[in-house]
Amino acid sequence: MRPEILNKLFAAVTSIPGVGPRIGKLIEAVAGPHVVNLLWHLPSGLIDRSFTPTIAAAPDGVIATMTVTVDAHVKPRTPRLPYKVKCSDATGVMELVFFRVHGDYLDKTLPVGATRIVSGEVKRYDGVLQMTHPDFIVAPEESAQLRVIEPVYPLTAGLTARPLARAIRAALERAPELAEWDDKPFLAREKFPAWREALLAAHSPKSLADLALTTPARRRLAFDELLANQLAVALVRARQRRLRGLRIAGDGRLRRKALATLPFKLTHSQEVALREILADMASETRMMRLLQGDVGSGKTVVAFLAMLNAVETGRQAVLMAPTEILARQHMATIAPIADAIGVPVALITGRDKGAVRAQARDLLASGHTAIAIGTHALFQEDIEFRDLALAVVDEQHRFGVHQRLELAGKGRAADVLVMTATPIPRTLMMTAYGDLDVSRLIDKPPGRKPIDTRALPVNRLEEVADSLSRAIAGGARVYWVCPLIEESELIDLAAATERAAHLTQRFGRRVGLLHGKMKSRDKDQIMARFAAGDIDILVATTVIEVGVDVPEATVMVIEHAERFGLAQLHQLRGRVGRGAATSSCLLLYAAPLGETARKRIEILRETEDGFRIAEEDLRLRGAGEVLGTRQSGLPEFRLADIAAHEDLLAAATDDARIILERDPELASERGQALRVLLYLFERDAAVQTLRSG
Ligand code: ADP
Ligand code: MG
Repeated sequence: MRPEILNKLFAAVTSIPGVGPRIGKLIEAVAGPHVVNLLWHLPSGLIDRSFTPTIAAAPDGVIATMTVTVDAHVKPRTPRLPYKVKCSDATGVMELVFFRVHGDYLDKTLPVGATRIVSGEVKRYDGVLQMTHPDFIVAPEESAQLRVIEPVYPLTAGLTARPLARAIRAALERAPELAEWDDKPFLAREKFPAWREALLAAHSPKSLADLALTTPARRRLAFDELLANQLAVALVRARQRRLRGLRIAGDGRLRRKALATLPFKLTHSQEVALREILADMASETRMMRLLQGDVGSGKTVVAFLAMLNAVETGRQAVLMAPTEILARQHMATIAPIADAIGVPVALITGRDKGAVRAQARDLLASGHTAIAIGTHALFQEDIEFRDLALAVVDEQHRFGVHQRLELAGKGRAADVLVMTATPIPRTLMMTAYGDLDVSRLIDKPPGRKPIDTRALPVNRLEEVADSLSRAIAGGARVYWVCPLIEESELIDLAAATERAAHLTQRFGRRVGLLHGKMKSRDKDQIMARFAAGDIDILVATTVIEVGVDVPEATVMVIEHAERFGLAQLHQLRGRVGRGAATSSCLLLYAAPLGETARKRIEILRETEDGFRIAEEDLRLRGAGEVLGTRQSGLPEFRLADIAAHEDLLAAATDDARIILERDPELASERGQALRVLLYLFERDAAVQTLRSG
């Protein structure tokens, strides 16, 4: 249960006076649903009202605070015209301009003859100084109300600065003093203020320097957020270790048979990775292993063999993919081999309903189904395993940490193997898993030929089409990817549809279109026709990005390549070059290329090494952008910036470890304070892993 002292912070934002449902929605979009989320909404700038020029001396376009006498009200002839209030000081006259304001409000706040302090942006029109909708109008005796320096907060469409700032001030007033959870010597060393003090300081910058991520206040808040996360991760891991008990070591009979049906031998890396996984499974400690391997490095077969190890002991395994297409593709790869060696496999996706789903569920619950393959539908509560021993999560960066834990929770102490093609730096990995074992597939399956990568300006499209004609005549199959423009799926779709129409005109009927808005059944059908060779050119939005495997495809055309990130381009390119024939990748760009886009394309032409590309990507974009995004599956931080606060992440990780060594149940005085910290950052689930939680 959340400590009472935090309750006011976890009320809805609409509990703040003046925040109604409409503003509440906007605040929720920009900060979050609870009052506490407003505390984390830190200023991104400030307005300085300390400049107090005379009317004659006020420059155009600055924020000015001026003391003036109200001379006259000029009411508009129609309500749509502005209402003007003429003012003056010893040096000249100016106008305060208002749109759609009730006259009596202005009569009250700006009575003729009175002296007022007004603050806002001033502009000159035809030599006359104007201030439109002053930010502040106060009488001289109320000058204390005028905030000389005001924080500026990130906004969203429809939300204006005033109500947001007011809501944040109200939220700050509700922030209680909390018992110190940080280590005292550490606080002293870092010169960190107390939590509440840090919070207030971060929200009241006095100068631009106070907005830096490196101020003690900001660092303190970042550290607390990181500590909450690292402690939560460590607690969850500690519980997983307590739940150990399964030693899974099959006799190898299914694995031997499966290997015999494969048309290839495992690469050295695959063998090493499999050995590491089998050793983890055989030990009593619960496996938490990451299998990293570039696109096409052959992760699936390693996972399948590990799953067979579980099946050999009479238990079950599950393989979960982020999309239905991928789940079906895994099914298509695995089912024939599984059938041949007599292992029952079932596909479970969100699509199945009614009797079909019920039957699949029953076969899984009874233990008949040895291997389940599916999507997030596997998380659903009605899905139960009889004896789940191994959970494999493919392309893990698409899943949240929470979902992974949930799936693993379906088996009492199931081993977990996560697979990813995105090399994630170790520091970042720690934010998602704490300590985690890693196997890497470094060599590619033999026989892969390098991909001929070229970049062309899009005005040479016709040339490209000509060469595609020749390639298709020679039996090639082509992916044609149209970019995703953020926040406008409809436009993307229009672009892809138009491109498909254009290519159909040129190449006849053998052009298919695949996009995210299609029903999954239709997607599968198009993929199947492409795989079977009924379609020569598959025009797609980035839905094909992850994991699709059609070895016969040898040409990848990426339109507007300059709009894709490096990692994404690499993933896309990895769709070709999987078969025996030479493959090519054409990057079409709109000239002129920006500096970063040019570098990205250069790097792609230079190398196919996914790890190197990932490093370059980090360098070009910064860690935050590459891996701080929602789809990364890594926790998102509001206060910490992984790149700027790397040292704090390391400190928080160490601290979390030491804390749990000394006080595993968080029972001490500091432990109690740390529980509050966990709740403050909404790591409730982690507190609940404590016996006395
Ligand atoms: P990814 O690591 O991207 O998931 P996949 O597991 O989809 O890669 O494997 C890509 C392709 O390589 C598949 O067609 C698979 O059958 C093939 N493959 C896997 N291992 C080997 C190997 N050792 N030798 C040859 N081909 C292999
Ligand atoms: Mg894969």
